[in-house]
Amino acid sequence: MERADAVVIGAGVVGLAVARRLAQTGRDVIVLEATASIGSETSSRNSEVIHAGIYYPQNSLKATLCVKGKEALYSYCESHGVLHRRLSKIIVASTPDEVPALSALKEKAENNDVRDLQWLDAGQARALEPEILVEAALLSPSTGIVDSHGLMLAFQGDAEDAGTMIAFNTTVLGGDVLEDGILLRVGGEAPMELMCRSVINASGLQAQDLAAAISGMLSEIIPMRRLAKGNYYLLAGASPFSRLVYPIPEQGGLGVHATIDLAGQCRFGPDVEWVEHLDYNVDPQRADRFYDAVRRYWPGLRDGALLPGYAGIRPKIASPQGDADFVIQGRGTHGVTGLINLFGIESPGLTASMAVADEVERMLREEG
Ligand SMILES: Cc1cc2nc3c(=O)[nH]c(=O)nc-3n(C[C@H](O)[C@H](O)[C@H](O)COP(=O)(O)OP(=O)(O)OC[C@H]3O[C@@H](n4cnc5c(N)ncnc54)[C@H](O)[C@@H]3O)c2cc1C
Repeated sequence: MERADAVVIGAGVVGLAVARRLAQTGRDVIVLEATASIGSETSSRNSEVIHAGIYYPQNSLKATLCVKGKEALYSYCESHGVLHRRLSKIIVASTPDEVPALSALKEKAENNDVRDLQWLDAGQARALEPEILVEAALLSPSTGIVDSHGLMLAFQGDAEDAGTMIAFNTTVLGGDVLEDGILLRVGGEAPMELMCRSVINASGLQAQDLAAAISGMLSEIIPMRRLAKGNYYLLAGASPFSRLVYPIPEQGGLGVHATIDLAGQCRFGPDVEWVEHLDYNVDPQRADRFYDAVRRYWPGLRDGALLPGYAGIRPKIASPQGDADFVIQGRGTHGVTGLINLFGIESPGLTASMAVADEVERMLREEG
């Protein structure tokens, strides 16, 4: 049996941010990753948007960690040469009956300490984005985009410089809570047992299954996983927009919006498709719904202009009607010293990753 100080399970953006943070505070960190590379699951299947923190309930972890994480991420990207752009975004009410929802969003944002939103009338909005159908809009100057892979490489580099070891093709199968730590059973290329002082379960979509495989963890406090697939379609041709364009949010997601990547490619999505299994194929037929959704705010979308892109799957813990928060469980919740479970780290998890890492570090430090 091998011994380890802090073991992070999962090398997505959150696991890497946590590994970096813990290593920089002097912990000996090992990251165990089931696949052959960093960020091969949800962290490479998202919109790469640095969110402002507008949509989330006041005082929720999503709200507070998004706002803190956004600031930390911008300054990290600037100091570490990670590609990003403060493109800004516009949230569009396309009909008069959507305007009250836009006002409610502005109030929600202010409650979350997002104070830079600007209310635009139709003329002001069209001066910024001439192609949109708009009744009124909100401009969010602090929304941006980031090269998520570049960010993860930078986190990995910092973590490794501080002594972290990352083991790829190494799947954690389960574990036992013992008197003097947590014993992990590790499969993959070099199966072994690893006795750990701290374990951070940052395994994203697998977090519930993994927690359930750790005996000594109360299974009743593992929140139920719900999978909400988000499909993207790419726009053939040049982007009609110079900033991100969002409709009024829908149940389970932010509405089919337009984002632009760092290469200038415009894409639409993600939508919300409740699924039972992990399947990343994008059905070309589904584009029909996208034409309707996008034309509500961009009537200029031509027939045949949308090409199937890619999909990501949100590791939700809410019911289809619900609006659940991130769940970060430590000893106070499950009674196990040294074990942190991260559940439901859907959007804005990329934006919040550095703030989530700070929170995990604080919880472990306070556990002693
Ligand atoms: C469609 C979509 C759009 C999104 N858009 C945005 C956005 O624009 N902005 C934003 O801020 N956030 C966005 N998000 C959220 C963001 O992508 C996630 O919050 C973030 O990527 C989660 O990172 P993670 O490290 O927790 O999980 P993951 O990236 O899923 O990483 C988990 C890792 O754990 C590994 N693993 C799993 N099981 C095991 C095991 N047993 N042993 C070892 N390793 C294991 C996996 O292989 C994987 O590498 C979006 C999410 C989706 C789905």
